[in-house]
Amino acid sequence: MEAEKPKPDLDAKKARRAAKHPNRPGEKCNAAPGAYRPIVNQAKCEGKNDCVEVCPYNVFEVRRIDDSDFAKLPMLAKLKSIVHGRKTAYTPNDDACLACGLCVVACPEGAIKLARVATLRIG
Ligand code: SF4
Ligand code: SF4
Repeated sequence: MEAEKPKPDLDAKKARRAAKHPNRPGEKCNAAPGAYRPIVNQAKCEGKNDCVEVCPYNVFEVRRIDDSDFAKLPMLAKLKSIVHGRKTAYTPNDDACLACGLCVVACPEGAIKLARVATLRIG
C-alpha cells in the first residue's frame, strides 16, 4: 500500500501544542468516523487558518464566506468579517472527523465546537 502523503497545510508544531492542551475535547482520534462533527461559529471565526493547520484529516477549508451565510451574521460580525477579508472556515470533509479535538483548542477565537452526531441504527 502506498504511504499516506503528509498534508501540505499541516503545522506539526501547532498540532503538538494543541495536543497537550488540558481542555482538548473529543476522543483523541478514537471516535468512529462521522460520530462527531466540528461546528464553526462564523460570527466568531476570523479565518485565521489554525483549524486547517492542525486537523490531521483535512476537514476544514478557509475561504470567502458565502453571501447567504454573510447575510445571517449579526451587524458587528459582518463588520469583523469585512475587516478579515470575508474569510471563514467551512467543513467540507466533516465526515472524516475522528474527534481528535485539536481544532477546538487551536482556534484562537474559540469558534469551534465538537458535536456528537446523534445516530440511530436499525437492524
Ligand atoms: S474556525 Fe478558528 S481556527 Fe478556523 S479559521 Fe476560523 S478563527 Fe481560524
Ligand atoms: S476534531 Fe475533527 S475536525 Fe477537529 S482537528 Fe480533529 S479530526 Fe479535524
